[in-house]
Amino acid sequence: MKTQAQAVIIGGGVVGCSVLYHLAKAGWTDVVLIERAELTSGSTWHAAGGFHTLNGDPNVAKLQQYTVELYREIEALSGVSCGLHLTGGVMLAGTPERMDWLRMAHAKGRYLGMHTEIISAAEAKRLMPLIDESRFVGAMYDPLEGHLDPYGTTHAYAKSAQLKGAEIVLRNRVVDTVQRPDGSWDVVTEQGTIHAQHVVNAGGLWARECGRMAGLELPVLAMEHMYLLTEDMPEVAEVNAATGKEVITALDFEGEIYTRQERGGMLMGTYERAGKAWSETQTPWDFGQDLLEPDLDRIAPSLEVGFEHFPAFARAGIKKIINGPFTFAPDGNPLVGPVRGLRNYWVACGVMAGFSQGGGVGLALANWMIQGDPGFDVWAMDVARYGDWATLATTNARVKENYSRRFRIRFPNEELEAGRPLRTTPLYDRLKADNAVMGESYGLEYPLWFAPAGTEPKDVFSFRRSNAFGPIGEECRTVRERVGVLETSGYAKYEVTGPGAEAFLSRVLAGRMPAQGRITLTPMLNERGKLIGDFTVGRLGPERFLVIGSGPAEQHHMRWFLQHAPASGVRIDPLGQRMQGLSVAGPRARDLLQRLVRQDLSTAAFPFLSIAAMDVGPVPAIVGRISFTGDLGYEIWVEPDCQRALFDALWSAGKDLGIGHFGLRALNALRLEKSFGTWAREYRPIYGPLEAGLGRFVHPQKGEFIGRDAALEERAGGGALRLVTFTVDAADADAIGDEPIWHGGEAVGWVTSGGYAHAAGASVAMGYVPKALADVDDGFTIEIIGEKRRAAPQRVPLFDPDGARMRG
Ligand SMILES: Cc1cc2nc3c(=O)[nH]c(=O)nc-3n(C[C@H](O)[C@H](O)[C@H](O)COP(=O)(O)OP(=O)(O)OC[C@H]3O[C@@H](n4cnc5c(N)ncnc54)[C@H](O)[C@@H]3O)c2cc1C
Repeated sequence: MKTQAQAVIIGGGVVGCSVLYHLAKAGWTDVVLIERAELTSGSTWHAAGGFHTLNGDPNVAKLQQYTVELYREIEALSGVSCGLHLTGGVMLAGTPERMDWLRMAHAKGRYLGMHTEIISAAEAKRLMPLIDESRFVGAMYDPLEGHLDPYGTTHAYAKSAQLKGAEIVLRNRVVDTVQRPDGSWDVVTEQGTIHAQHVVNAGGLWARECGRMAGLELPVLAMEHMYLLTEDMPEVAEVNAATGKEVITALDFEGEIYTRQERGGMLMGTYERAGKAWSETQTPWDFGQDLLEPDLDRIAPSLEVGFEHFPAFARAGIKKIINGPFTFAPDGNPLVGPVRGLRNYWVACGVMAGFSQGGGVGLALANWMIQGDPGFDVWAMDVARYGDWATLATTNARVKENYSRRFRIRFPNEELEAGRPLRTTPLYDRLKADNAVMGESYGLEYPLWFAPAGTEPKDVFSFRRSNAFGPIGEECRTVRERVGVLETSGYAKYEVTGPGAEAFLSRVLAGRMPAQGRITLTPMLNERGKLIGDFTVGRLGPERFLVIGSGPAEQHHMRWFLQHAPASGVRIDPLGQRMQGLSVAGPRARDLLQRLVRQDLSTAAFPFLSIAAMDVGPVPAIVGRISFTGDLGYEIWVEPDCQRALFDALWSAGKDLGIGHFGLRALNALRLEKSFGTWAREYRPIYGPLEAGLGRFVHPQKGEFIGRDAALEERAGGGALRLVTFTVDAADADAIGDEPIWHGGEAVGWVTSGGYAHAAGASVAMGYVPKALADVDDGFTIEIIGEKRRAAPQRVPLFDPDGARMRG
């Protein structure tokens, strides 16, 4: 075994082997994979081997498409068969809601270049003769589904990597990972130590334990998972004889079941509601190519439905039941990327669908390690989406919930419950007492909307407008007509101080830094000139800045800040919940605040985009004149022990001004009528600032900053896309995001966010279209739950187009 390497990968499951292959393919051939036992000795060997391209996040769906298309490449390179059976498959809907969901998934697939089809139950029966079609209302057919041989596929990746120069060491456990002061790693194995520049944790079932070697607690948990194999079935032989083909795969959402042919019989697996975690605190090292004891009682409710929906199964003998563990992150998406604070330490774990996602995960990580950037949008699987709040207990509660809901619909207005409430602000009980319906983001509870007094604060889950529609409308009118108050503690806040603070911020952010007492809005770009953040930066002193950004991106942004911070001269402090906020907005916001502060708040004295420390009533605060509602408004930042006093002061001073609450749902509606974009929706690393309408906030004249050359190139070339706001002829459902935008019979773009702009009285959608269509006024439709709705580009914001209210 060599003693030096560019990178060591821990783990020879399908994911580790894919990372190894992609690194070697991209030219990093001085790489070693260390495997404790034989390749596939974790969850990989007993996988059912199914693959598909469908995923709730279109960017993950793209990675899945890439993975499926990669198999031919590694087979050809390695000469090892992946045992591919590209049968195609049907996803079966037993309810109208599920059919709506499939229509939406089908629509999403259109702009990703996927060729799914919506079909009737009778057509589904023709394609998959084993179903009882009377149980279904329809289905979606996907030609890119099938199954493969997990062992062969892993070896095909491994052999392809070896042919490119990578090394694999078997039967050798990594027992420790120790970082040297220069950021490189000593990887201590049973056979000796390798000094590596980079370490990749692809430990699968043991990823959590491997993480602990480096002092890291990764939010992953293994769940038991069962599938059964039947004896040969005459019905299967009949289909094979009649069609000359294998029985296609099927996914039955109501039964929470997936099936495929296995030799002369069938395989049926289930994500049962009463799922069981495995090794909740510590995975045993002596677990190898072992299986767990099957528990038929646990999956009996699913099997009963399965036998009704697939009657032939009821007559078949069961040959074998497989019960094996595999790992999940709390939201079911992989954990990929560099870990903040651990230089040159990378993870590729929590991959619950290794044969759909493994290829994409390997490609993203290899790009990231070699080029410093994953190369595409991996936000949905970035390990940085979890902070320290994702403790073992929280992770375990959420993974169990996620498993039990694997095939259930999650409605756009549906909040999950497990592990909540965890992080709360001092206002939590107050807001609940005022009938707030709470949501959760990054572990923190925040108000979504407020139910009318005397009604239950509860969402009725729906793809259509729900019981919240009326109350949210009221909240919007409170803001537009009087004054509303919103808790903003969930925003990410960073204090950046020191003699090097301005130079540092000016290098990582694309805008010019503000003068003292002023706020500026600025995007953050990567080297490719794509959007990786958008911030407001307020200057509180010559060497003191308050930077405000998107809450869930706090780790993600801190990782980038630390990566680019100079060795000395600047301190970057993520304030988390050590600073909390309230925002007041609406035409009476100034009257309200002026009652509580001594400073003159007139526009002449404290204009739009001003910031200053001042007492608000009894509370020391930082006040910025800015609001994401696009109205006259202020953001007020205080320490947590003062947040209740601040709230009380505002509430009692605002009573005769008609003060009211508003929540995040109303904020979304309000920002839509101002055409304001937001992180993770309009602003993502697949768009440039010009495309996103943020070109005016990029200042190449100021000198060097990250992404400057690429931004100049985008400016010269004009970019490929444009963000457009549309008003939509909607009926009882608004766009929510990811719907295709149609023009001239083609899906030319997609919606990034949508909703109902209550104050303006219009259904609104924002989305990207090709630049050539950006100035076209006619012919657009947006597909909402399977129906194409006329959409008209809205050239100026629906509210306050000249900014008189916001600036006045
Ligand atoms: C019953 C069942 C059915 C499934 N069906 C499907 C399916 O149909 N489709 C699908 O896509 N997925 C399926 N999966 C999930 C799939 O198995 C996983 O997504 C995949 O195996 C994850 O691969 P991995 O490489 O991340 O982890 P693993 O396969 O667990 O690999 C990790 C490897 O790391 C090694 N390792 C760990 N720690 C160390 C160390 N310290 N030193 C050296 N080596 C170490 C282990 O020995 C192991 O070989 C199924 C899983 C189960 C259990």
